[in-house]
Order: sequence, then C-alpha cells, then structure tokens
Amino acid sequence: MSTLTAKLLRINLNVSNFIEEKISDQHVKRFISARGLGAIYLFDELAPAVDPLSPDNKLLLLVGALGGTGLQGFSKWMVMSKSPLTGTVFRSVTGGNFGIWMKHAGYDLMIIEGKAATPTYIHLDEGGVHFLDAAGLWGLNYRRLQAQLKETHGQRTESACIGPAGENLVRYAVIHSGERTASRGGMGTVMGSKNLKAVSINVPAKKPSPFDPIAFKDLVKTQVNILKEHPRKQTMTTLGTPYITKIVNMMGILPTKNYQEGSIPNIEELSGDRFFELKKARAGCYNCMTRCGGMRAVNHGPFKGSQIDGPEYETIFAFGPLVGLSDRQFIIDANAMCDVYGIDTISTGVCVAFACELFARGMISPVDTEGLRLAWGNKEAIFSLIEQIGQRRGFGRLLGEGVQRAAAQLGGDAPSLAMHIKGLELPGYDPRGVKGYALSMATSNIGGSHMYGRPREEFSGQADPLAETGKGAMIARVQKEQALEDSLIACTFGNTGLDADMYARLLLAATGIDHFGSAENLLKIGERIVSLERCFNVREGFDRKDDTLPERMRREPLLEAGPATDHTVANLEHLLDEYYRALGYTSRGIPGIDQLQALDLPEAAESIKAFTAT
Ligand code: SF4
Repeated sequence: MSTLTAKLLRINLNVSNFIEEKISDQHVKRFISARGLGAIYLFDELAPAVDPLSPDNKLLLLVGALGGTGLQGFSKWMVMSKSPLTGTVFRSVTGGNFGIWMKHAGYDLMIIEGKAATPTYIHLDEGGVHFLDAAGLWGLNYRRLQAQLKETHGQRTESACIGPAGENLVRYAVIHSGERTASRGGMGTVMGSKNLKAVSINVPAKKPSPFDPIAFKDLVKTQVNILKEHPRKQTMTTLGTPYITKIVNMMGILPTKNYQEGSIPNIEELSGDRFFELKKARAGCYNCMTRCGGMRAVNHGPFKGSQIDGPEYETIFAFGPLVGLSDRQFIIDANAMCDVYGIDTISTGVCVAFACELFARGMISPVDTEGLRLAWGNKEAIFSLIEQIGQRRGFGRLLGEGVQRAAAQLGGDAPSLAMHIKGLELPGYDPRGVKGYALSMATSNIGGSHMYGRPREEFSGQADPLAETGKGAMIARVQKEQALEDSLIACTFGNTGLDADMYARLLLAATGIDHFGSAENLLKIGERIVSLERCFNVREGFDRKDDTLPERMRREPLLEAGPATDHTVANLEHLLDEYYRALGYTSRGIPGIDQLQALDLPEAAESIKAFTAT
C-alpha cells in the first residue's frame, strides 16, 4: 500500500476520450508527486514555443503524495501548464476539496489535452469519465456553476471550474475550487482556451492507505502536537494572512501607489486585528486544523449580501495601498468582484494601479477608459475597471492582457510603469526593501511570484533585508525547499514546525520508498525540480536577461519606506552571479551539463546542450 496512487488520467478533448496510465517508478523516485511530476511531464510533452492558448498546450491537475491522509495542511492541489502571461512553465496552488476527490477517484495527476469543439465539462463518477455539454453553463460565475453541478451530479460533487473571465481569455483568469482559487499565471485562461468549463467529481471517499499505517499514525499525532503548541499556528488561525500588513509596513515594503512608496501612515486600518473584527466565521481547506481563512460579508456587486472567504494579505495590498486606499470593506468587495469574474486579485490590482499611475501622469484620460476617472483611490472607477477587465471590454480589454503586454501596446514611457517579472505582476513585497526576496523573484522560473522561495530570514531579523551581497546561496536553498514542499503540496501556512527530516519520515511511512527516507535525497529532489523548470524556460529562450526586476526597482529610490527609504536594487548583477554559482549554472543563468547529470536529469542535459555551448 502507498498514499501515492502512481496513476494518471489522460483526457483528450479533441476526440473526447481518456486513458489511464501508470506513473513510472523512475518519475516517482526523481520527483515524488505534484510540482515535480508536473515539471517532468510538461518538459517531456510540450514542444518548445507552443502557444499557451493553443490546443497543443496541456493543463495538469495534481495532488500531493500525502494528500487526503490524516496529515494536517497537505490536502491542497495544484494546476500546472505553460502560462499565457509569462510563456514559462507555471504552477498555481489552491485549496478546497477537489484535489482530494481526485485522489479518491484514484489519480495523482490528470493531463488535459486538446480543445473541445464546443463548451464542455468533464464529470468523473463510478461509471467512468463523461464528456458533457456546457452550453447551458457558459457565462456562469463559480458559485452558480458549482450549485448547478451539485444539483445535476449530487451534493458531494466537487469541481475545478472557471468563471466568465476564463471563457473571455483574460490572461490572468483563475480556476475555482469551492471558495478557493488557483489564482496566478492564467491557469483558468488555459482551461477557457480548451472550451472546458469544469472538471467535476463525485466518487465514494476512499482514503489513501499508508505503507506503514502505525508509523504514519504516530507521525500524524506528532504533527498535531507540534501544531497545537506553535504560536505561528495560533496567529494564522486567529488572524490569517492579514497579520502580514503591519510587518511589511514597518519594513517599508508595502507597495503603495503602484510601487512608488513603501508604507502608509494609517496602517492600523488594515491590520490583522481590524480585519478580524469583520470575520464572521472560520474557513479552511480539507483536513487542516490551522484553518487560516475567514468569511466576511460582501456589500457591493453580484455577491452583495453573501460572504466570501477572504481577503488574504495579497488582496489587501492589491486593492488597498497599491491603488491609494485603506478601506477594508472596499477590499472585501473588490475581492468579491474579482471572484465573480474569476480573475487573480494580484494581477488585477497591479493592472489597475498601473492604469491609475498612467492617469495621474496624464498618459491616459477618460477618453481612453470609457469615461472612468482613474484617480488614486477612486473606488467607483476601480470597481468599474475590474468589471471591464472581467468582461474584457473598454480599457479592461487591454489590461486583461496583463500589465506587460498592455504597457508594450501603449508604448512610450508606459513599460517603465509596468510592475512585473517575466510578465507576471508583482506581489505585495517591494523588492527594494528585501534584497534576497528581490533575487528570488527575479530568478523565479514562473515570474514575479512571492511563492517561489521566501527567505524567512529577511523577515525574522536573521538576515539583513537590505544587504545586497551574500544572498545567492540563501535564495538557492529556499527555492529548493519550496520546490520540495510543492512536491508534497505542504501548505506554507498549515505545515508549521515541519522540516525536511520530518518530510522524510512521513514519506517513508506513507509510501515505503526507501529513497524518500533521507532528507538529503529530498532536498536534491527540490533542486532537481528548480533546475528542470529552468531548462524548460531555457528551451523557450529565457536566460539571464530575463532574471531581472522592473526598471523602477533598479533605478528609482523607494519613498516613504522607513528603513528602506531611498533604496534601489542596485547590485542585481552581483546577486545573480552569486545565485548562479550556488546552483551550478553558467553566467548566462543556464544549468551546467555536469550539474544536470549529477541531478539525474539526462533528458534535460541533452535537450539544452545547444544552449550551453553559446
Ligand atoms: S493553513 Fe490555510 S491555506 Fe493552508 S491548508 Fe490550512 S486552511 Fe488551507
């Protein structure tokens, strides 16, 4: 027995058929599950230069090796594909129950290929896989869609689905799972490009059986005891991610007015405690005692009168200081408006802030925006712009392309105001005040993500966040650790207190695979994944020139930022050299052939040989 099913379901929408395949022992040993498996399947099966919105792109749904067990905070799932925003390999993590239903159905992975001729959804039940007409579901928001699917297929039905923005091919559309979303990188756009409205599952629960059930049960008990005592768990349970706002404001890295400033004076308004006052109920993912979510009432838009699970910190910054506001209810309502259409709150907020700065500088006017006066903090105009983006009309049609493409199309000075890395809109941490984090974002193989490797040391005081040297090895390490955690889908907030040694004990008891019983082997798997993802991108033409930061971060001093005031990231080239050295990459940021062989990645070594020669 093993908690890994080692089975995948391959679905072809061109011809409405499916096939079950075994995931090879070699793949499992080298990559475990989830992000690792996704990376190797995308590398093997996507030819370079595939258009992300063409039928040739593939959408992968993945669940972790420890998902669906009694372990706390390991039951999230992820979506992987080539991103229509960045053109890179991409992964986006979410919660809800869908991933565990996949596991109950007997799969660690689904690969969705091709494109349906007409709007379609896929339903899995005990009778098999069904390809069904989604014409009557097209245009529905996720709540109405999920309710409809439950009515048709039974109340236990769980689904991964898209809203109107995914259908409209807004490049940062999300995939919903219950009240949670796989938000980043346009995974919902890829799904929409395949004419696929939903994948739903209703099968009897079938918990995965660990290889050594007694040892595994003991380890689960140990984890629960660690969590019970841990202060971080208590903070997450009570406040959730809104607790972050005061910390980043104090550090001067709270992005304000499109990353011109790094703090706001009235931060109490956006503190975790003030958001706690609006919390109506706790919320969370399958089998997680941390339950970091919170339900809050919506006062505006189609979801008015109901509650949403949110906002997270990343939404607070995006519809707060970033657009010149500190209004809690506005942030909740803007979050709900993004959910109605199914768009990523970070990318939407950054695109809106970009438009506000264009407006403030007189580079656009109401003539360009269907009459919207996009002054900083104009709530009504911002709501309308979110709707325009979701519906892909007016100025929202341009912004729905993502800030990089929108700026390129506008031309002139617009690209210098577009805050993205490799096309992915920046998250809620100004890189100028956390130089290691800046390096992690610059080198991330999925673009400007806060979740590719987070140097906790820069937040805890163990490392000087403003130092611009000595960060390369630290970032190489945190990226490897993150890749390992993503290959188990260990939730960053729900796995408090666990380390690679504990993962090794858990995996050994869960799967019986001796190789996983060593923390050293597991960290090597993390490194293997990061390097493989880089090889995917190298084949697409990415190299050192793309490991960069927006011009503003390199040249424009950060304002109103406490300790980070007047900082830029002046020494990025030095940081890159350190990082490449730590990972055995060439000075162009390309993995060395010897290094790839040592990582047991012969296919990647062969594939990028031509790039290392130049
Ligand atoms: S900590 Fe929060 S995000 Fe993580 S698994 Fe638990 S409820 Fe989900």
